[in-house]
Amino acid sequence: MKAHCQYPGNLFVVAAPSGTGKSSLVKALMELDAGVQPSISHTTRAPRGQEREGREYHFVDAPTFDAMVAAGEFLEWAVVHGNRYGTSRQAVLDRLEQGQDVILEIDYQGALQVREIFSGAILIFILPPSWSELRSRLERRGEDDAPTIETRLQNARHEMTHVAKFDFVIINKLFESALFDLKTIVHAQRLRYGACNNERQAIMDALGLVHP
Ligand code: 5GP
Repeated sequence: MKAHCQYPGNLFVVAAPSGTGKSSLVKALMELDAGVQPSISHTTRAPRGQEREGREYHFVDAPTFDAMVAAGEFLEWAVVHGNRYGTSRQAVLDRLEQGQDVILEIDYQGALQVREIFSGAILIFILPPSWSELRSRLERRGEDDAPTIETRLQNARHEMTHVAKFDFVIINKLFESALFDLKTIVHAQRLRYGACNNERQAIMDALGLVHP
């Protein structure tokens, strides 16, 4: 695998405890910015509700997932809430190679693994504004019973102990303001000298600048 800055695309990794609004923020960002693409993860969990194969996830059984791990097909993988989830290495690298920015919406363990192998990945952690707000969001969602909500809150406490290892923190108090923060991070990354953005590289070449 090449060093991160040899890919023209940027890799963003967003992690957050459940109920923080991570999926809605990432979805809204992608609707506004076609240059940011998702990666469809593989999971051993069963599809929920309206979920479709290949849209939210690739749903696979445990032996298939094991075989993919053994073949080194995952950039990262982790056990989350008792199920396994993994990011396809090839799908991500192909997009970065084509100059697309990729956004991974994964758990903190996966995010930290990505950082190990892809030092230039931008790690973003989304926090709720308070414990009481996180609890009421989980309750309002109506997806979980009371004991599951308690488990999610306990997991959130553990997940949040890793926040300092991330590059950026967004507090999702007001959705529009958190979305602005996320767009700003993406924009700032594209402006970095080392981001190796194709277009800017061509301009810098034309200006006769020498790249280190
Ligand atoms: P859910 O089953 O609710 O869709 O997702 C559960 C958790 O797994 C979420 O925190 C989600 O971000 C995380 N997740 C989804 N895909 C991946 C992945 O490919 N790798 C890792 N490490 N976590 C993932």
